[in-house]
Amino acid sequence: MDIQAALLGAARCPACGQAHGTSLLRVDIGRDAWARVAPFLMEQGLSRLLVVADDITWGVAGQALYALLRKAGLEAIPLVLASGGLLPDEAAIGAVVAACPPDVQALVAVGTGTVGDIVKFCSHRVGKPYVAAATAPSMDGFASVAAAMHLRHMKTTLTAHVPLAIFGDMDTLCQAPMEMIAAGLGDTLGKHNCLNDWDMGRALTGEYHCPHIEGMVRSSLAACEASLSGLVRRDGDAVAALAQALVITGVAMSFAGNSRPASGAEHHLSHYWEMQALFAGRKPALHGLKVGLGTLVTLDIARALAGWQVNWQAAAAHARAFDADAFAARMAALYGPAAPEVIALERAAGKNAPQRVLARLQAIRAQWPALQAALAALPGPERVRDQLAALGAPTRAGQMGISAQEVADAVLAAKEMRDRYTVLQLAYDLGAEQAMAERAAGAWA
Ligand SMILES: [Zn+2]
Ligand SMILES: [Zn+2]
Repeated sequence: MDIQAALLGAARCPACGQAHGTSLLRVDIGRDAWARVAPFLMEQGLSRLLVVADDITWGVAGQALYALLRKAGLEAIPLVLASGGLLPDEAAIGAVVAACPPDVQALVAVGTGTVGDIVKFCSHRVGKPYVAAATAPSMDGFASVAAAMHLRHMKTTLTAHVPLAIFGDMDTLCQAPMEMIAAGLGDTLGKHNCLNDWDMGRALTGEYHCPHIEGMVRSSLAACEASLSGLVRRDGDAVAALAQALVITGVAMSFAGNSRPASGAEHHLSHYWEMQALFAGRKPALHGLKVGLGTLVTLDIARALAGWQVNWQAAAAHARAFDADAFAARMAALYGPAAPEVIALERAAGKNAPQRVLARLQAIRAQWPALQAALAALPGPERVRDQLAALGAPTRAGQMGISAQEVADAVLAAKEMRDRYTVLQLAYDLGAEQAMAERAAGAWA
């Protein structure tokens, strides 16, 4: 796929009728890309910059990029955050905003996940554009409007803005730790489940869906799977293809206006495990690695539900048995300090409210053969497990310090952090969530 052409979007999409656009002007992933950052900024009339890195990305690329910006005559202020325990939280936001004088014209984010999210969020809140300098192909948030933040102890996705440009120097990307390349692969393989979740949302709740955007994500997924053997060898073209696939997925999110095309139940599971790790004071595994595990769990559940003999009367009785007080108590036990947000979401959205579940059950029953066929058409978890293992990524929860209990709890509770239809909500609607939680803990702990 031609990235520059994909950025153009459409005033009226032939597939969905909506306008698709992004203010991302340039994607430049290739050899010597750092040398082209200063000319781009000058072209945009941006000469006073805040360059944000952490102490790892500063050494990998920040220092060299900073020198290139200065050499080109640009004024740049460096801000190097401590990488140990760095989170996209209130403290990091404060550090960046405090270091940003009013006359700074743009921010430059040197890094991936955490640094990228912090700068995306802060630059948006102070009303300045930013440029992303990607140091590893580890996640797909580069080009999205959404910043994955961690506020009030809760993993939360907030609308911010897209960068003006994304640069990725091929040599830097190729030298990224294999764990980060594997994380990028895991984040991409999650789309197998996520796109099916989105389609179920369309079919069962009438949610907005665009086949063109889905096609963008599917082509990224295919490009990524095709480059797997090259990734194992750190081949430059394969790593660049992965980085481009991650950027295109972000553009797809921009086109949709939210993260739906790139984030389903596999992501909710990952977010749940991340929050549990932080509550317990453990360092969470990389986002894409947890998404990889979430993908194995969701694809396995999809396969189980594809062959599920539904007892519709029992499912309806299960829906009616929902008890809001018991739910709140369970969330308090599982989500700790984040429980009030989760309980408030259920109160507002009524995901599990009996009337809504019963209405969905009717829609599920009416479309059950088609839904089961779509679930059966998903790849089995073994295929994704082998792809992840080829890059040395963990394929069992225990390898990331996640317990069997946390696998089961996540299957039951991860869906409560978003109002979004997924295979986990389907398991609940069918009254199968306990069976799926036990299955997942048995298979993937
Ligand atoms: Zn569309
Ligand atoms: Zn992701």
